[in-house]
Amino acid sequence: MPEAAEQIIERLNCAGYEAYVVGGCVRDILIGRTPKDWDICTSASPVECERVFEGMSACRIVETGLQHGTVTLVMDHVPYEVTTYRADGSYSDHRHPDSVRFVHALREDLARRDFTVNAMAYHPKEGVQDYFGGQEDLRRGLIRCVGQASQRFDEDALRILRALRFASVYDFSIEEETDRAIRLLYETLSHVAEERIWQEMQKLLCGRGVERILMGYPEVICHILPELKPCMGFQQHNPWHHFSVYEHLAKSTAQVPPDTVLRLTMLFHDAGKPQAFTLDEKGVGHAYGHADYSVRLALSAMDRLHVDHKTRDRVLLLVRDHDLPMERNRKEMKRRLGKIGGEAFLQLMEVQRADALGKGTFNREEVERAHLERTNRLRELMDEHPCVTLKDLAVNGKDLLGVGIPAGKRIGKILDVLLEEVLDERVPNERESLLKEALFLYGKEEEV
Ligand code: ATP
Ligand code: MG
Repeated sequence: MPEAAEQIIERLNCAGYEAYVVGGCVRDILIGRTPKDWDICTSASPVECERVFEGMSACRIVETGLQHGTVTLVMDHVPYEVTTYRADGSYSDHRHPDSVRFVHALREDLARRDFTVNAMAYHPKEGVQDYFGGQEDLRRGLIRCVGQASQRFDEDALRILRALRFASVYDFSIEEETDRAIRLLYETLSHVAEERIWQEMQKLLCGRGVERILMGYPEVICHILPELKPCMGFQQHNPWHHFSVYEHLAKSTAQVPPDTVLRLTMLFHDAGKPQAFTLDEKGVGHAYGHADYSVRLALSAMDRLHVDHKTRDRVLLLVRDHDLPMERNRKEMKRRLGKIGGEAFLQLMEVQRADALGKGTFNREEVERAHLERTNRLRELMDEHPCVTLKDLAVNGKDLLGVGIPAGKRIGKILDVLLEEVLDERVPNERESLLKEALFLYGKEEEV
């Protein structure tokens, strides 16, 4: 526990108030993870809390949400949220309590929290405060609502997705009653703002248990992402594919590293297959051009969820190109490098590896070996800093004007041809050779 958190607790205690670290940070400590942030709960009211810290040096007070009882203390540039014990009033919009009231007992504050593993507090002298069996559930790897699950989800539908998120991130199971309530109430997720859905979804996708959660709760996932609904149970009738489209999406998502761009790409890469599907006369299924349909579906989902544009655009590029044949030689590799850049190209290789692994018909060792060989080849190529775009060419338009080629469209055309010749390694990327070649090309055009 950071010293500042201990200081905050001690200072509140000395002033006669209770104080504990609480929630996610206690959970993370108990499972050996480093907490992202430290939350503190206290019996002091916000005003009392401010009074306790007013005179303290090296501590800045920010009134974050006074009506919710939260004061942020910034110490050493780290924010600590200090929140007064509170209980939530009734919920009428399936998301926000209509009111909150401050309460006097820690237990009441813990009882309003979502899951047993998130409803523990800790004090350096008193140890872990665990009224709802959070430690036992952590040991058993269970996500369980505090109190009656259906009531807790009915109050705040976002908790449904948080349950799936925690189960994915920690690779936990979902306790039976909690599971039943999820399946009963998931449609109430419509009441939740898309931004909040995306925040949870992003973590869910990057969790270790993502395949199990995508496979175990397809109806919930497809409620959030209706673009994927036609994929559920959609059989591919193709010898290369063992699984339905949805299963393949779930399996290949789990095969890329836990990165938002890569996981989202896999989740959508084949989403357009049902739209593009045809059966040939032999009864074999095809989905020619499905990548373009997938791009459209991914775009519609990502815009709805307010996914940031950088993530969105990279996902769209990778979905668009996921099915392109692998480059057969160095020249093809350079061309693709010039088109999409090194970072996207390395990502595309991850995507194609995961796609193969998610089909269930390829030998894993072979896929891994080919992937390693291919990425090594690309890295070696990138280390050479080859000329792959007009920008890398050792001459530019001005240079061509300088040797007497007149301004106009021809300059651009000649530069394009020079790049092609350099890519094909017919001409070295050197000024002298390129200018000579440019004059030769110009002369040839003159003749025509
Ligand atoms: P993370 O590690 O992602 O921050 P977290 O559990 O800390 O996970 P926060 O959103 O930071 O999640 O919330 C802090 C704590 O507040 C939770 O541990 C939980 O006790 C409580 N909490 C958060 N959201 C809800 C909610 N929707 N309903 C009930 N309790 C909640
Ligand atoms: Mg947190």
